[in-house]
Amino acid sequence: MDLCSLTTVRSLLDKYGLAPRKGFGQNFLINASVPERIAACSRGYAPKDRPAGVLEIGPGVGALTQFLAREYDRVVSVEIDRGLIPLLGEALGEYENVEVVEADFMELDLPAFLEERFGDLTASGGTVSVCANLPYYITTPVIMKLVESFPPDRPLPFSSLTVMVQTEVARRLAASAGSADYGSISASLALRCRVEKLFEVGPGNFLPAPKVSSSVVGIVPHGGIREVYPDAPEDLARFSVQVGGLIEAAFGQRRKTLVNALSAKYPKEKTAAALESCGMRTDIRGERLSAADFCRLAAELAD
Ligand code: SAM
Repeated sequence: MDLCSLTTVRSLLDKYGLAPRKGFGQNFLINASVPERIAACSRGYAPKDRPAGVLEIGPGVGALTQFLAREYDRVVSVEIDRGLIPLLGEALGEYENVEVVEADFMELDLPAFLEERFGDLTASGGTVSVCANLPYYITTPVIMKLVESFPPDRPLPFSSLTVMVQTEVARRLAASAGSADYGSISASLALRCRVEKLFEVGPGNFLPAPKVSSSVVGIVPHGGIREVYPDAPEDLARFSVQVGGLIEAAFGQRRKTLVNALSAKYPKEKTAAALESCGMRTDIRGERLSAADFCRLAAELAD
C-alpha cells in the first residue's frame, strides 16, 4: 500500500471515520520521496554492521514508518491518537518488525520504555535511533525529553535523533553563539549533541499543508559535557544542573547583560569577577556564550 498517496491517505482516514487533528499536530506526508529520504538519513547515522532499532514518535498513517521498517530491524512507533491505532494495524500489517504503541510520548518513562522494547537488541550490541516527523506543538519538549531523560555523564543512548521540525526551529536547534537564532535550546542541545541541517520540505508535501516550511535535522549525540568542557568537575550531574540554570537565566532575560540576568542567583560582583577570570567582558550578554563558555562560567561561579 502506498501510504503517502493522497488518495490512500484520504480513503484510509475516511474508512476509519477520521480527519487530521490539529490539536495533535497532524500533518501527514503525501510525497513518498520525503519519508524515504528521512528514513535513509536516519539509518545512515547508525552502524551498518549491527542490529538496529528505531523509535518513532507519531506514526500518523504510517508514511515514515513503512520506510523505517525497510531500513531497520525493529521499529517501535508511539502514537497518541487512539483513532489511528486500528488504521495503523491495517496500513502496516505487512511489516512484522513494526510495533505500534498507543501512548502519549510525553508521559513515557523513556529509559524504562527503551529497556522494555529494545533491551534485548542493545544487549546483543544493537543500536537505537529516534526518527520522527514531529508534531509541531511539542517539538522542543520532545527533543529536550529525549536529551534530559538520560544522565549527563554518558553519551545519549541513540545513534541519532533524525527529526522533521519547522524550519525556524531547525535554525534555532543548529544555531551558533552570537547568531540571531541562538537560544537556550541551541546551547542546551550543544552540551550533548551536534546538530546537522539535512534538507527542507515545503508545505505542499503534507495533508493538510502547514503554513510554514519544514526541515529535517540530524541531532547526533557526542561524548557529553566532558567533550564540550574537559575540565568539568567530577560530579557531572550537579554540574549539568548548574550549567542548565545559567543557560535558563541567561536566555530568560536575553536583552540584559549576564551580570544583570544572573543577579537573582549571584551577586553582580561575583558574576563580573567570574566573567573576567574566564576572559570575557563584564557587559557580555548570554547570547554570545557558547555551550563551552557556559560551562567555564559555571565552574568559575561554583568556586
Ligand atoms: N509520521 C506521520 C507522517 O509523517 O505523515 C505523522 C506526522 S504528524 C506531523 C505527528 C504525529 O504525532 C501525529 O500522528 C500525531 O497524532 C502524533 N502525536 C502528537 N502528539 C503526540 C504525543 N504526545 N505522543 C505521541 N504521538 C503524538
